Formats: sequence, C-alpha cells, structure tokens
Amino acid sequence: MLCFYPKQGQRVQSGPLATALPCSPCHRTALKKWQFHIFCPGLARYVKLKRMATHLFGAHMPSSGGPGGCVRAGKEIGCNAIQIFTASPRMWKRTPLDPAKIADLKLAEEETGIRHVASHDSYLINLADPKPEGRTRSIEGLAGELDRCHTLGVKNVVSHIGAHMGAGLESGLASAADGILEVLSKSPTDVNLLMETTAGQGSSLNFQIDHLATLIEKTNNPKNLGVCVDTCHIFAAGYDIRTEAGYLEFWNEFDSKIGLQRLHLIHCNDSKKPLASRVDRHENLGEGEIGELCFRLLVNDPRFFGIPIVVETPIENDGHRKNVAKLWEWSETSSTLG
Ligand SMILES: [Zn+2]
Ligand SMILES: [Zn+2]
Repeated sequence: MLCFYPKQGQRVQSGPLATALPCSPCHRTALKKWQFHIFCPGLARYVKLKRMATHLFGAHMPSSGGPGGCVRAGKEIGCNAIQIFTASPRMWKRTPLDPAKIADLKLAEEETGIRHVASHDSYLINLADPKPEGRTRSIEGLAGELDRCHTLGVKNVVSHIGAHMGAGLESGLASAADGILEVLSKSPTDVNLLMETTAGQGSSLNFQIDHLATLIEKTNNPKNLGVCVDTCHIFAAGYDIRTEAGYLEFWNEFDSKIGLQRLHLIHCNDSKKPLASRVDRHENLGEGEIGELCFRLLVNDPRFFGIPIVVETPIENDGHRKNVAKLWEWSETSSTLG
C-alpha cells in the first residue's frame, strides 16, 4: 500500500530534495507549500507530481448576481475555487445565457484570479428515470447544462446522475450508462461530466464505488467522464472515513476501481446523520458525525493538491466563510497529523 502522508505524530520533512527523508514504510515528504514530491517505491526515488501543489478551497456560492457575482463573493469569503448553479436547480426551464453575464464571469475571473469554477446540475435530472419522458427530458437537460458550461468556460459539471425509482439497481445502472453516453454524444468534449457519489437516499445510484466503476466501464471509459466525491454522502452511504485507516481504505478502493485521475472535485461536508444512515444532511466541518480528522487528512493529502475542495455546508451565520477558513487553517497548521 502506498501511503502519501506521515503516520501520526511524524513530522513532515522539509528542505531541499536531497535532504528529504522517506519515512519508511510510509513514504511521503512535502517540500515547500507550493511544490511537492512523493517518494515512489517503484522508481525508488522522489517524483514530482504533475499537478501544481496548490490548495484549492471554496464553497458553493448562492446564485445572486450571476456567475461573475458568485466568483467575486467567493473571493470575498476566502475561496480560490467555487461551485455555482448556472440556473435554478429546481426548475426545468432554463433561461438562455445572457452574453453580458458570460463576459462578466470572464471579467470576475480576471479580477479575482479564481480559475476554478464548477457547476452543479439541476436536482430534477434523472438519467435512470424508468419513465421515458422523464429520462428524455433529463438527457436534454444535462446535455444543455454541459453546453452552457462550454459557453461559460466552466470545465466541470457535477451531476447526481439518477435513481432507479424501483426498477432495481442493475436496470438503473444500465439505463444511466445509456443516458450518459447519449448526453456525452450531444455535448462538447472540453467539459467534464462529474458523477457525484451519493448518500444512497431512496433509490439513488452511485452510493458505492462499484456503481461509479460500472458506469465508467459500461460507457467505455470516456475521457470527460469524471467523479466528484462528497464526504458527507460517502459517510452516510457506509464508508467510515472517521479514522485514518478508514480514510485510507476508501481512497485505496477508489484508486484501484476508478483511478484518482478521474477525480476532479471534492465536496467537503460533515454529516448530521450517522454512518450508513443513507440520509443526506450536511453539517459544518468538524461539528458533525464525521469529525475533524477526516478533513485534516484531506486538506493535507498531496494527492488532492490542485483539486478543488468545495464546501456545501449550512450557509446561515456566515457559514461558508467559517468553513472555508477551517480548510485554510487546517492545511496551514497540520505539519503533522493527528
Ligand atoms: Zn455534494
Ligand atoms: Zn448532499
């Protein structure tokens, strides 16, 4: 097993590469904050990761003020990555994009330096809907969202994909796979469709890593089909990420069955509901059933540097500002874990 961070209490080595020590059997060293190398036992040397070692932390921003307004509001509360809705998530009808808003998003990105904006699709979409009208509407809706994002220059669209509504898991996955293929065939290839892990509420698909792996396989591994992992959802679905061992086990299974290269976004949420409750209720970081350790591990795990980590926690009482601040604080103070 390849471990990317130190054991509890073990200090991360810093300094030039030549003096960095692999901490066998747990091989990791972090250099300066903005660059990093990982000891690769296969090559028996340190390798530079391709991704920039940049922390990308942010929040799902409420839609007032258009996409440009979301970017500016995100910057104001400490984000350098955000997630948005490009239209109301609870309505099928989508108003066409206003060219002024497209231009304003570009301007806001220039002004703030925020280059990582993801979109969350409509909650109504169900690619596995057993009713043909619902399924067709969902395929058109999701393809439309990928198209809007292409126009906006937004690279990632997150989708819950769907629920089998009583048709059974196998049939639901088959139907969803066909739906994904249809969506991607109608859509620009420079936008990634990210399947989000779900809590397994009702008849939702994708509450197990195997479901995601099946969909990737059934769709013949499209390059622009990726994954968004939501920590609250995987915990509610039964993955016990409260401990270091459980955290490692989840990511090892993810890597072996899906591959970390398909991970393009992380939703970082604590959970109001217990392990395996299959109920999706987000809580402020460190105040729910998951607890602080998992999030400390996540923000200090070099495998996820360069991947946006976005909170969807309660927004009341300046919640987003406080939760984003926790991500920055934990990433700066945790030179050791535990
Ligand atoms: Zn989420
Ligand atoms: Zn959720």
